[in-house]
Amino acid sequence: PVRTRFAPSPTGFLHLGSLRTALYNYLLARATNGSFILRLEDTDQNRLVKGAEENIYATLKWLSITIDEGPVEGGPFSPYKQSERDYSNHAHQMIESGAAYRCFCNRGRLEGLRESAKLLKPPTNVTYDRHCLKYSKAESDKLSTIKPFTIRFKSPDKYPPFEDLLHGSINLQPQINQEDVRYDDPILVKSDGLPTYHFANVIDDHYMKITHVIRGEEWLPSTPKHIALYNSFNWKPPKFVHIPLLTSIEDKKLSKRSGDIDIMSLKAKGYLPEALINFAVLFGWAPKRSVAGEKHSEVMSFSKLEKIFSLDDLTKGNAKVDFKKLDFLNKHYLNESLKDKKFFKESVDEVIRLLETKGISTTRSYVEKVLQTVGSLTTLNQLSEEQVYLFSKPSLAEFPHEDSLSILIAFREALKGQNVTDAINLTALKYPKKQVFEAVRFAVSGGVSGVKLPVLADLLGSDNFNSRINDAIN
Ligand code: GLU
Repeated sequence: PVRTRFAPSPTGFLHLGSLRTALYNYLLARATNGSFILRLEDTDQNRLVKGAEENIYATLKWLSITIDEGPVEGGPFSPYKQSERDYSNHAHQMIESGAAYRCFCNRGRLEGLRESAKLLKPPTNVTYDRHCLKYSKAESDKLSTIKPFTIRFKSPDKYPPFEDLLHGSINLQPQINQEDVRYDDPILVKSDGLPTYHFANVIDDHYMKITHVIRGEEWLPSTPKHIALYNSFNWKPPKFVHIPLLTSIEDKKLSKRSGDIDIMSLKAKGYLPEALINFAVLFGWAPKRSVAGEKHSEVMSFSKLEKIFSLDDLTKGNAKVDFKKLDFLNKHYLNESLKDKKFFKESVDEVIRLLETKGISTTRSYVEKVLQTVGSLTTLNQLSEEQVYLFSKPSLAEFPHEDSLSILIAFREALKGQNVTDAINLTALKYPKKQVFEAVRFAVSGGVSGVKLPVLADLLGSDNFNSRINDAIN
């Protein structure tokens, strides 16, 4: 059976990129009746971020990405938190067999090696000179009682090519420099005794019986090391899938501004789980136009994705994060969901809460009416932001046009005994219709676009509507 895992490090909050990784692993497990495992890779104590672990659990829960085995759920291969597992017997086993060795080099020496490696032609990031490989087993054992040490993997001279399910055969070799030979001997155990990512990741994937590792392309350079480790233990490696990097729409590295944003802040902006999932799933995956006679559009519910997801439909090439698409999807899911009684009621509560944070109070029945008549919203948050004029009088800036004041005075006259549409038409006999619309809308909403005027007039009620026109004139 398929067993996949999401293995975040609690070094930050769960972002769009990690959501995509979690989702692909989750969906592959669900579509194949396999298991989805959450494993916390928290061995790098220096990089832990406060609240990140809780944020990971809370975000997955909010998205309804359910976990079969994990730190909270437990499971047959506990612990699912690397800081709670002891990896030392594997390290010792490797020292015994000669697959790994202790390194006693101090920080200064290693720093010097890194500096000199930059000056080599060609420069290399493979920097260690295997200085400590010269110690016999007995010498190394003895030194280990008096000196701090790390444990290094004696990596093979050549890494075997490996198969990536998306990219095919991949052959990545360490940049070994010929004149001043350096080795890609990654550290497996740090001087604090904790394992590094490479070591713990391989051991856990093996014991947790992971069949497929789906992870971001940034991990591709690590995979030959991982496979060499599997080989040295005589373990069968899992299948690997490296999924494309996320970029901004300008094809640049995703930054805070271009959307490298954590999921819970998107929640706070009013985005719904189904929209975020639908958005993230498209970063490197697109279903065939039709499956079993059924046509697919880009709009796919979570339950549908759980059925149709397949690794065959992964796409190569960078995945662009376009927030217009998220808006489009959210609008779709929000307006679909509002048809549901329970969701509608919760949305009323949410709008009241959002308005309260702005110091605006309103009534349930008014919010209900707004939700029923205002037309499609992208997020509920719009009602406490761009469209907050539905709930509180706008403060007005400059009139949109030099004739706006005269237009409003004429409109106010016309409004006596007429409805809004007729009053506009009447005023438009004297002024360009577009300017009439703009002036009136400006007076009641503070802006020139937004909710349709007759709808707005109906929602505000005539007293409110007329007083906003009066206030704009005075
Ligand atoms: N802990 C790694 C991360 O934070 C996991 C990488 C992997 O999936 O192997 O992304």
